[in-house]
Formats: sequence, structure tokens, C-alpha cells
Amino acid sequence: MAAARTRLGPAGPATRLGAVRIDLHTHSDRSDGTESPTDLVRRAHAEGLDVLGLTDHDTMEGWDEAVTAAEEVGLSLVRGIEVSCTFGGYGVHLLAYLPDPGYGPLDHELRRILDGRSSRLPATLARLREVGIGIDVEDVRRVAGATAAMGRPHIADALVDLGVVVDRNQAFERYLGPRGPGYVHRYAADLEDMIEAVTGAGGVSVIAHPWASRHDHRALDAAGIARLQRVGLAGLEVDHEDHDARTRAELRALARDLGLVVTGSSDHHGAGKVDHDLGCNTTAPEELERLLELAARSAVAADRAVPAVVR
Ligand code: AMP
Ligand code: ZN
Ligand code: FE
Ligand code: FE
Repeated sequence: MAAARTRLGPAGPATRLGAVRIDLHTHSDRSDGTESPTDLVRRAHAEGLDVLGLTDHDTMEGWDEAVTAAEEVGLSLVRGIEVSCTFGGYGVHLLAYLPDPGYGPLDHELRRILDGRSSRLPATLARLREVGIGIDVEDVRRVAGATAAMGRPHIADALVDLGVVVDRNQAFERYLGPRGPGYVHRYAADLEDMIEAVTGAGGVSVIAHPWASRHDHRALDAAGIARLQRVGLAGLEVDHEDHDARTRAELRALARDLGLVVTGSSDHHGAGKVDHDLGCNTTAPEELERLLELAARSAVAADRAVPAVVR
């Protein structure tokens, strides 16, 4: 185990011999990753990570299994979710860490998002049929496995299975992306309301890949982010594959100016996304400490049990 921990991993800010390695944003097959929560935790441990954040899209379905696996291998697990939100008319992903799953307003919004995703499915398939691609709900179900958040990635997998495209990326480029013939709008939560719901649940909020090239991030300028901080935003995910070096430097400076926590993560999806290997970006230990401190304070203010990080 010591050997695995001191082995040099993929490049990242905290990748030094013996350093604590922290990856705070990953997906299991309970959303659109390809590994079970157990396999994800085991792999994270085997690859020398010390702390793992499990952040499936809009669902906490993988938490219990991940907790058991983390206890088994001795890895610290930070339970989270990545919530689909909108801000100023644009899509934004919000990482929510350590919220109480029993908090009604949060649970209600997550259900609404998941319902929006599943009710979009037949509409998407109808659009695809219009452009000559015969694919039905069963084709998607077959590849979707254990997911609680069936969405475009699974439609993409079904298209790969049918030989229409070679991988998920091509499916998004040709059919499922915002300008594709199969694109259908779906419900997402209001970002400011969601940040408040996460705080109400005793958790903390971090904007995922705020300036990722594939998203329109017009609304997330300095003023927009400052406004979000006033409703309770705790941090920004700065080190992410979808940010180039210059973007990271600018975002880091903004986070420093505003006093926001800076995180870094892989956004690993197993075989579902290339160039997102576990630990390819990491979070500095002192930044995680600040985040956990804010989470503990949030839990106390919300009069909820201080959420434990599995050790
Ligand atoms: P949905 O939740 O159904 O709208 O699907 C959105 C999810 O699809 C995102 O959160 C990503 O994980 C995934 N995704 C988006 N674009 C791509 C892409 N080009 N290749 C692979 N996965 C993607
Ligand atoms: Zn995803
Ligand atoms: Fe995301
Ligand atoms: Fe993600």
C-alpha cells in the first residue's frame, strides 16, 4: 500500500512523492460513469489516491456502496453530487458536497431533474428517428445498467452499440449536443436556489468546471460569481481538463480575490470519457481542509449532524 501511495501518478498540482492526493469529482455507473461505486473506490485506492469525491449527476444512489468500499480499503470518501443547474439562461454544473440526503427541498429538486431527464428520452428518440436512426427505449435501457440518471450518455452508448457512431464524443458531436438533430431541452434547477438548498442541507457548493470550453459561461463572470458567493457558494473547480493553463490562472486569481476555495479534479467517468483519468487533476490538502471546515459550519448552522468524511 505504501508503494502505491508514493508512486508518481499522472501530473497534477499535488503529485509529489508521498503527497496526499485528492480527487473531488468522479462519476460511477449510478450516473454516467462505467464503474460501479465499489470498483471506482478500489481503483482510486490502487492508483494512490487518498481522498475521493463521488459526485454522480443528480443522484446519491452510489453513496452507500462507495462508503462500504472506502471503509474496506481505507480511503477517505467525500460524498457529493453534481447538480444540473441554470444561471442567467445558461447551463452550469454545481458540485454539492456532504449535503444531508434527507433534506426535503434538495431531494425534491433532484427528483425533478431526474424526471426531466427520463421524460426527455422518448422525445430524443423520436427526433433521432426523424433523421433515420431507429433506436428505441429498450436499446438505451440495455446499455444503461445500474444508472439512476439515464441521459444522453446512455443514448450515446446505445448509438455506439448500434454502430451508428464510434464513441460517446462522436454521438454528442453529431446528434446529441445542443446543435445536434437529437437535442431536446430538459429541466435544470435554478443555480442560486440550488446553492441555498445545499446550504440548507448542511452541505457546501463548488461550481464545476466554471469556464469549460464546451459550455457557454457568459453568466459566470466575476460579478456573477460574486453574486453566487453572496448566496453561499464556497468554491470553484479550477483544475479541470476542460480548462487550459490560461483559464486556470485567471480562475485561480479570481478565486483568490474573492476568498473562494480552489479545487481540482479528474471528472473521471471510467471508459465513458477520455483524458479524465483518476487523479489527472487534484485538490491541495489545505483547500480540502477549508472546504470541510465550511461544510462543518454549514451543518451546524442548518442544525444537522456534522457530515462525516469516511476514513
Ligand atoms: P444529460 O444529463 O442527459 O443532459 O447528459 C449530459 C452529460 O453528458 C454531461 O454531464 C456529461 O457527463 C456528458 N457529456 C456531455 N458532452 C459529452 C461528450 N462530448 N462526450 C461524452 N460525454 C459528454
Ligand atoms: Zn457525466
Ligand atoms: Fe459537469
Ligand atoms: Fe462531472
